[in-house]
Amino acid sequence: MSGQLRDLIKQSPISMIVGHFIPLKRSGSGLVGLCPFHADSKPSMTVNDKLGLFRCWACNTGGDHLEFVKLYRKLDFIESMRECAKILGLPEDELNRERKKNPRLELAFRVLNFANRLYTHVAAQNPMHFQKFVEKRGLSTESITEFQIGYAPGNNQLMLQFDKIPEAQQDEAKQMARELNLVKVSENHGRPYDFYRDRVVFPIHDHSGQVRGFSCRSVLPDQNPKFLNSSDSFVFHKASILFGYFLAKNAIRQSDMAILVEGNMDVVMMHQYGFKNTVGTMGIALSESSQKLLANMTKNIILAMDSDTAGMKAMTSINAAFMAQGVLPRYVSFEPAKDPDEFLRQPGLGRLGLLERIEKAPRFIDVLLEKMLPVPIPETIDRKLQVMKEVFEALSPLKDHLEATERVIATAKALQLRTDDSSLIEQYKQTLKAQEYPKRDVRPAPQATENKADDASESTEIQVIASVAPLAQTETAPMLASEKLLLKTLMTHPECLALPQLHEILAYTSHPEVKELILWLGKIYLEIDEQEYVSILSDEVFSEKFGHEVKNVAAEALELYKLEPLNDKVIARLMQDMKVRMQLEQLKQKRRECTERQKQSQTQEEVVFYMQEITRIDRELQELKKNPV
Ligand SMILES: [Zn+2]
Repeated sequence: MSGQLRDLIKQSPISMIVGHFIPLKRSGSGLVGLCPFHADSKPSMTVNDKLGLFRCWACNTGGDHLEFVKLYRKLDFIESMRECAKILGLPEDELNRERKKNPRLELAFRVLNFANRLYTHVAAQNPMHFQKFVEKRGLSTESITEFQIGYAPGNNQLMLQFDKIPEAQQDEAKQMARELNLVKVSENHGRPYDFYRDRVVFPIHDHSGQVRGFSCRSVLPDQNPKFLNSSDSFVFHKASILFGYFLAKNAIRQSDMAILVEGNMDVVMMHQYGFKNTVGTMGIALSESSQKLLANMTKNIILAMDSDTAGMKAMTSINAAFMAQGVLPRYVSFEPAKDPDEFLRQPGLGRLGLLERIEKAPRFIDVLLEKMLPVPIPETIDRKLQVMKEVFEALSPLKDHLEATERVIATAKALQLRTDDSSLIEQYKQTLKAQEYPKRDVRPAPQATENKADDASESTEIQVIASVAPLAQTETAPMLASEKLLLKTLMTHPECLALPQLHEILAYTSHPEVKELILWLGKIYLEIDEQEYVSILSDEVFSEKFGHEVKNVAAEALELYKLEPLNDKVIARLMQDMKVRMQLEQLKQKRRECTERQKQSQTQEEVVFYMQEITRIDRELQELKKNPV
């Protein structure tokens, strides 16, 4: 990604960026201002130009230039770069130049745009089957234009159009069309033909509005399959695209809300009825990047996918991913209508009806918890505690946030459990602890102790929960060698914490203790005097929070501290090497996981998927070894 522009931004004083949006004033050696991310009266936000970082000491929001703009203006990463470039007066066309550097991608875009123009052109002439579809679904002209809904004719028009472009470019264009599955070659006579024929075409745009693929539905009677979609390719990753995002992003920002539905038509109809802050999942999964993208723009997420079993399951996992980021999505059902389209057109429901449902929408987690409560309330303690265990698991992405613990208590009351609140929360925390560390090193969980059920006295209830809930796994997954080295280096040379590469390096760290300690170091390093460093660090590290591995590393580091002064060049080099090392180890770890998963795959599809993943990782490994920058 446009590394040069990013570096230029990072080298500029961060106060220029933060100061562009909120007033800053000098305080001691740094700058402070009112934090815009919580109701601040203090001011609690410090901005440090030397380190290129901002941080609020009250709500703990912090980061670099791009992070500030991303959060403050609710932009995605690329947009934040543009915004920063604009504020700093930097040449933002660096970004565009970067894209042009990949000729294969550029060719793919040209071919996709070429096909898209043909499909919209044909649709504009209103062929019969297109017209029928539009009437039946009540699509407005505006919707057709906005979403560039097109029509793929049945007479190999795309192939014929390719024949018309200058010969010099024809072959590579046709080759690319084949690669993108727009054109197929007949097995019988070896002649190419259009893959999409007699179908309504929904182009799938990426988040910046470039067509990446197509989703096409049948219109002829008995035409199978009903849907034909672009398969994943080097330009198209279905899971990473939110359908309609490029049209919805401004509305999401303005309304401070995003509505998530399922399927293209639902998105189009929602927009048509004025809910322009609607985006759709492609399929039922939402990728981590899409989920983060939305969570960064707004905390008001409405889940409005199909209410059938598959839809509920999808929303449950999407909801958990949002909760892990501290966002509690709400839930809207279109029942009794079968989809938004039917709902919006039905008298008595319609746009106003939906507005009202959104206004009153419950948290999805509460809907889920209610579904977990058996009706009637079970009689046996055993069964009640089993329900509690499920409730703990469902709430666990929220960690021990009040939003979680309050619900633990409320559910226990609803189940008529008489355990006192603090014991309940203690049990819930045990579940959290057991889940805490990634299963990098999967060991069999210790056997649960005997179940002493059916005794209703308060003191034993809680013991039973302990035996039903997975026992806390006291052992943390082992640290990778590179993580140890990173930790040791940073503790010995805390001046490295100021380097901009640190955030990139942290992204390659998955050990929770390492991450936690480094973030903490970064925070205190801004605050304390050098003389206090050793004692403050020792107090923290040798507390119960950290395992013996961290303690060992710290002991070594503190011994070396100040014995090995380094100059800036050496430090920069060191961090660079560290980054490469972390990347290598991380990739190798991923490869091991993929190999493991491939072995356990149930379907051919999965086997192929992991094989491709492994190939991709190998390529990345080779690249990294060849060109470690
Ligand atoms: Zn704050």
